Amino acid sequence: MTGGAAATGLVVGAHGRHVMVEAEGGVRTRCHTRGKKSDCVVGDRVEWQRAGDEGVIERIAERRNLLFRQDEVRSKSFAANLDQLMVLVAVEPMYAETQLTRALIAADTAGIPAVIVLNKVDLPGAGAARERLAPYRAMGVAVHEVSLKADGAAAIAVLTPLLAGRATLVLGPSGMGKSTMINRMVPSAAAQVGEISQALNTGRHTTTTTTWYWLDPARSSALIDSPGFQNFGLRQLDAAALTQHMPDLRKHAGACRFYNCSHLHEPGCGVREALERGEISPSRYRIYQELHEELSATRY
Ligand code: GDP
Ligand code: ZN
Repeated sequence: MTGGAAATGLVVGAHGRHVMVEAEGGVRTRCHTRGKKSDCVVGDRVEWQRAGDEGVIERIAERRNLLFRQDEVRSKSFAANLDQLMVLVAVEPMYAETQLTRALIAADTAGIPAVIVLNKVDLPGAGAARERLAPYRAMGVAVHEVSLKADGAAAIAVLTPLLAGRATLVLGPSGMGKSTMINRMVPSAAAQVGEISQALNTGRHTTTTTTWYWLDPARSSALIDSPGFQNFGLRQLDAAALTQHMPDLRKHAGACRFYNCSHLHEPGCGVREALERGEISPSRYRIYQELHEELSATRY
């Protein structure tokens, strides 16, 4: 049965063509997209029509922003309309700095503010970890410190104001404490994932779907988790525009002799001179070189 006015809602879970849409009052309906395309992502505002006990997506509202994840071979959109990116790293195990940098570049490209949360500061390596993040602090990214497991109450006190009134995507490479964070902040997380996974046929116990969790009954703050997500897709970014999204390099690019300097080999390069003076972190410059190569190679 179809007919009637279209209902509006928020996509809180997505798996292929199947999505979970939540109405203003909180009621959730399983919907599917039309045709073969699965172009609906978590965070989308949609209009849908009831068709039997399911719904059909009629329209996706214009997005404020859209993020892409890099899987083995391709870059795929997975979340929209976010207010903030939270990158969770830990004192140990060591995180890949490339992931952190990619995340910050992707957020900046999409116009989404980013924060770093350093977890496990109860461990002896906290000082060294803090030191490794100094270049990020210096370029204006806030770094907050927590011990999600060792001192959960203090962690909640740090995270709650950061998350208030915003939709925050959390990126946490494996082992950083993301599950601990979600379970602390969203006591009903396991139940919610179970419900969505079952409805979208992803299997009861595997959490493969990006999920939108409300943090408060008023539905003003949300955490968005995308299991298995490691790297942001950056293919939409031009290699020549990369420096624009790396503030520590950008700061010195004005001193380059050539206006279109790639900062790789040109004489009179302000970026490489700053690197030699120790004003740019060697690891950040190395990541720049790698990303420049990747983005130059994948133009299509
Ligand atoms: P995920 O892989 O990011 O989901 O990480 P988990 O939440 O499963 O945490 C990974 C490991 O780090 C687990 O063994 C946790 O017990 C541990 N861990 C989480 N938070 C803390 C913390 O504040 N301090 C310490 N020392 N270990 C923690
Ligand atoms: Zn240069």
